[in-house]
Amino acid sequence: MSDSCFKMSKQRVTADSKKIINNDRTVDCNQLVPIKYKWAWNYYLDGCANSWMPTEVSMQRDIEQWKDPKGFTAEERHIIKRTFGFFATAETLVGNNLVLAVYKIIDNPECRQYLLRQAFEEAIHVHTFQYIVQSLSLNEGEMFNMYREVEAIYNKDQYAMSCTDGIMDTTVDSKTKEGLQNFIRNLVGFYVITEGIFFYSGFVTMLSFGRQNRLPGTCEQIQYILRDESIHMNFGIDLINTIIAENPSVWEDSYKEMIISFIKRAVELEHKYAEECLPNGILGLNTKNLKEYIEYIADRRFERLQLPKQYGAENPFPWMSEVIDLKKEKNFFETRVTEYQTGGALEW
Ligand code: MN
Ligand code: FE
Repeated sequence: MSDSCFKMSKQRVTADSKKIINNDRTVDCNQLVPIKYKWAWNYYLDGCANSWMPTEVSMQRDIEQWKDPKGFTAEERHIIKRTFGFFATAETLVGNNLVLAVYKIIDNPECRQYLLRQAFEEAIHVHTFQYIVQSLSLNEGEMFNMYREVEAIYNKDQYAMSCTDGIMDTTVDSKTKEGLQNFIRNLVGFYVITEGIFFYSGFVTMLSFGRQNRLPGTCEQIQYILRDESIHMNFGIDLINTIIAENPSVWEDSYKEMIISFIKRAVELEHKYAEECLPNGILGLNTKNLKEYIEYIADRRFERLQLPKQYGAENPFPWMSEVIDLKKEKNFFETRVTEYQTGGALEW
């Protein structure tokens, strides 16, 4: 375990004395400034500029469409419910890992500033699925127990949670190479696999309904979540790459191979999930193109980790890149973002 308490010292802290992890006990973990990791601070600012609440989004049209017996086919209802059921607990799982494991070990104040913001966003995301389930009068017991009762979801969550065990164990020392490798594996499991791969079939599924003007309120919320999640994942990958840069001995060939197969196994689990969700295919979406998309996304993640691409798949949903690259979508979040950025200031 890294030391969570610092030792008071009369020595001023310099940016150079800061490290991303395993800081010397005399380097104050309470002192944000001088900032060394500007990227972490910038992610914090970007996150804050994206404030939103699910309850501000009207669910009226969604409720009308969902109630209409002809509004959705049985298979469409099936995949929509699977998506909500997966997210309903996955967001909590990510939040728990963040607060109980990642926050303890990452002792750099700039990174912790972002982690606190991210933790709040995970609460907002959990709230979102509670709000959607309640608005559409879905069966709460069914939705929130899906991760126990649907094997393909159980397997994904079990896979992510398996990499928390190792670092919750107080005998693991992040100052040893093995301890640090365990920790990086946890970061990959949550930031790259859960938030960076497992979430994306849900995003693409819901947004393909949004493109047909179906469930517009839900899809607006999913777009906000996607925008938050892409920052979570980018922060996580920068964090991983910085830990590796500062501790190059952990990034040995055998370890890289392990990380590659760790991610490839997740892709297989996601393929199983796609088969369970879409047995026959719906408009624009089937097991084949969903699997291709998962592989395409996984390759992007390999590239960001400076690992070789494994699949060479093409993006079957080019429209998703436009949605993800939100800055190009001028009118996309226009009203809300502006409201928050100015609305935060008090008038005296
Ligand atoms: Mn989230
Ligand atoms: Fe997240």
